[in-house]
Amino acid sequence: MPFRKTGATLLATLLATGALAQDYPTGPVTIVVPFAAGGPTDTVTRLIAEPMSAALGQQIVVQNVAGAGGTLAATQVANAQPDGYTILMHHIGMSTAPALYDDLAYDPTESFETIGLVTIVPMTMIARRDFEPDTFEELVDYVTANPDSVTYANAGIGAASHLCGLLFMDAIGVDVLTVPYQGTGPAMTDLLGGQVDFMCDQTTNTTGQIKGGEVKAYAVTTPERLESLPDLPTTAEAGLPDFQVGVWHGLYAPAGTPEEVVATLSAALQTALEDENVVTRFAELGTAPVPLDQATPEAHARYLQEQIDLWGEVIASAGAGD
Ligand code: ASP
Repeated sequence: MPFRKTGATLLATLLATGALAQDYPTGPVTIVVPFAAGGPTDTVTRLIAEPMSAALGQQIVVQNVAGAGGTLAATQVANAQPDGYTILMHHIGMSTAPALYDDLAYDPTESFETIGLVTIVPMTMIARRDFEPDTFEELVDYVTANPDSVTYANAGIGAASHLCGLLFMDAIGVDVLTVPYQGTGPAMTDLLGGQVDFMCDQTTNTTGQIKGGEVKAYAVTTPERLESLPDLPTTAEAGLPDFQVGVWHGLYAPAGTPEEVVATLSAALQTALEDENVVTRFAELGTAPVPLDQATPEAHARYLQEQIDLWGEVIASAGAGD
């Protein structure tokens, strides 16, 4: 059963928070990040937190609650007071989890109020610097020839890195050993240390290491090459035109959060997405803020539903659900 607040609890909370809604916020706001510090979701959150905090006139605390591919943090925020003081940054995993977990303790569309989309981040297939294959084609051949010895890092079932690995393995028809981490921040540390062979992760976590030559990069999962990494071929150029994924991020409040509070948070998000430093840093990291008309509760809710439908089908046809 998905988590739902009972009518009585909801009413009591609304009565308690309703009086505060006009003055909101009067104290710090916590954004829960569902993966470890230092990874891509954490990076995006910390970049927008500063201008959002300025817009709200209150401190923003970023709290990393890693585990179970992001579902632990989503469960925590679904159960938090719906008062706007605890919100969630989540990514594409919000739309893949229903197809991957049959015991989710929340319902992505029922347990939250959508606040707005943030950014859609390309993914890159990368490997430890001394991994044998040099090109994406060689990677496919190598993984196909050595399925029992290669290791793929991801951030747990439901993470974008997990989804990307699924799509890759489905496209080439091979399964390899996956090594789960609390986020791709720590996974990157192990990749750099040579403890794991390859992973697919967002440009917000890989651009620096690719440019610095610390990892081998094979391809980017977008239809066009990126300005920030112009030498990196697309997966389509490398022969897998259907292997494409963009990691969309959005902000969520617990279901029952007053509409005015959600509107205040959405307005602060929009201010952050226009911030010069956010625009510049996002571009350096291979991404961009969504257009402002996507950073709204309505557009986000529509997109979430479309993505649940899309990934539900893809995951079912890859035979990867529970
Ligand atoms: N976003 C990453 C993933 O889904 C995890 C992270 O942010 O650390 O794999």
